[in-house]
Amino acid sequence: MRTYFVETWGCQMNVLDSQRLAGVLEARGLRPAARPEEADVALLNTCSVREKAVQKVLSRLGELKHAKQSSGKPRVVGLCGCVGEQEGTTLLARTAGLDFVLGPGRIAQLAWALDAVDAGEKVSATGFGPTQDYDAHLIARGTSARQYVTLIHGCNQHCTFCIVPYTRGREASRPLVEIVREVEHLVEHGAREVTLLGQTINAYRCPKTGATLGELLAAVGGVPGLWCVQFVTSHPKFFTDNMIGSIAQAARVGSYLHVPFQSGSDAVLKRMHRGYSRAEYLDLVARLRAAIPDVTLSTDVIVGFPGETEDDFAATLDVASEVRFGQLYGFSFSPRPRTPAARYPGRVSRSEAGERLERLFALQSAVQLELNQALIGNTVELLVDGVARRGTESWQGRSPDNRVVNFPAWKGIRAGELARVTITGATPHALLGVRPEPSD
Ligand code: SF4
Repeated sequence: MRTYFVETWGCQMNVLDSQRLAGVLEARGLRPAARPEEADVALLNTCSVREKAVQKVLSRLGELKHAKQSSGKPRVVGLCGCVGEQEGTTLLARTAGLDFVLGPGRIAQLAWALDAVDAGEKVSATGFGPTQDYDAHLIARGTSARQYVTLIHGCNQHCTFCIVPYTRGREASRPLVEIVREVEHLVEHGAREVTLLGQTINAYRCPKTGATLGELLAAVGGVPGLWCVQFVTSHPKFFTDNMIGSIAQAARVGSYLHVPFQSGSDAVLKRMHRGYSRAEYLDLVARLRAAIPDVTLSTDVIVGFPGETEDDFAATLDVASEVRFGQLYGFSFSPRPRTPAARYPGRVSRSEAGERLERLFALQSAVQLELNQALIGNTVELLVDGVARRGTESWQGRSPDNRVVNFPAWKGIRAGELARVTITGATPHALLGVRPEPSD
C-alpha cells in the first residue's frame, strides 16, 4: 500500500487545504505515513506571508531530495500552497527532486498531477478557474472535535503589504446551503466546534441568495449538536450595525472575534490601504462591546511598516493599551514580491522593528495577564483537546472565547468532550483550572 505525508506551514486555511490534499490522496488508496521521508508521496503545503518562506521551502526541498537519493523515499515530491502559486513554475524548472507544483486554487488537480508524474512528466498547475473547486466529501478531516469550513476563498482587498490576493485569487463565497450541509455532516460525525474561514469573512455574500454573514451564522448556529461556531478573519471595514446585531443574537457563536487593526497611525493605515482610520476602528470596538458585552477581541499588528515613525508606533501602542485585546499577533513588516509596500521608501531597520515588536509584546503580555487573572474563580465550559504536553498529567481545552485552559485530568475524561473547569490561576497565555467540586 502506498503512503503519503502532507507537511503544513501557515494559517488555518492551509491546515484545511492539507486535509483537502490528503482527501484526494486517500481516495486513491494512499494511507498516512509518519514522516515525509518515509512516504511514497510527500507534499509541502506552504505559506508565503513572510519573506523567508521561499528559503525555508528550498531548504526542505533539499532535504527531501537528499532522502530521495539515499533511500528512494519520498518517491514523489509536490510543492503546494502559496509558495507553489508564487514561485512554483520557476522552482519546478530549477529544483532537482521536485516533481510537481499545485497552487491553492488547483487542489482538485492533485490526482491529475500524480498521474502525470507516474507517466514521467514534471507538471505545474497554478492560477484560478472561474469557480473554486471545493469538494466537502473529499476532505481527510481526522477525528478532531474541532473542524474548519471554508466560507470565502481569496481576497479582493489588496492591502499594500499583503501577498494573499496574488496567491489565493479573487474573493469567491460558497453557497450558504452547502456550508450548512457541511456543518451538519461534521456534527453528525463528532464535531463540536466549527471555525468558518475566510480572509475577509464578514464580506461573505451567498452567491445564490445574497445572504450575509449574519444570516449564515444564524443558520449554522441552528445546527443541532454543535457546541460553538467561530469565524475568522473579520475586516474592520465590513462590519455594519445590522451584522453586529445578528452576530450578537446568533445561537452558539463563540464570544471571540479576530479583527486586525494592523496600525494605530492614520498615516500608516492609509499607506497600508486598509480602508479605515484609527477613530473608526475604536468606534467599531465600542459598538462590538456594546452589542456583545463578553466579547474577547484579538488582533493582528504589523510593526516597522515602511515610513513608520516612533510617533506612529506610539499610536499603535496606544490602541493596544486602550482596547486591551485578549490576544494579539504581532509581526515585523516583511516585504513581499509584487506588493506595493515592498517598493515603498522609508524601510525601518530590522533591529528597530524587532525592538518595537518587543515593546508591543511586553505591553500585550501585561494586558493578557490582567485579563486572565480577572477570570480566576469563574467556572467555564471547555472543549477538551487532550494532553497538554506529552508525558504530563496536564490536559488542555479551549473556552468559547478561545482561551487555553490547562487542568489536571480526571478519571474518564476524553478529548472531544465538553468539561466544566474552575479557573484557579493565570499566566499571560493560558489559564489554569481544576474540576469543580460537585456542589459548584
Ligand atoms: S484583507 Fe487580509 S488577506 Fe486581504 S489583502 Fe488585506 S491583509 Fe491580505
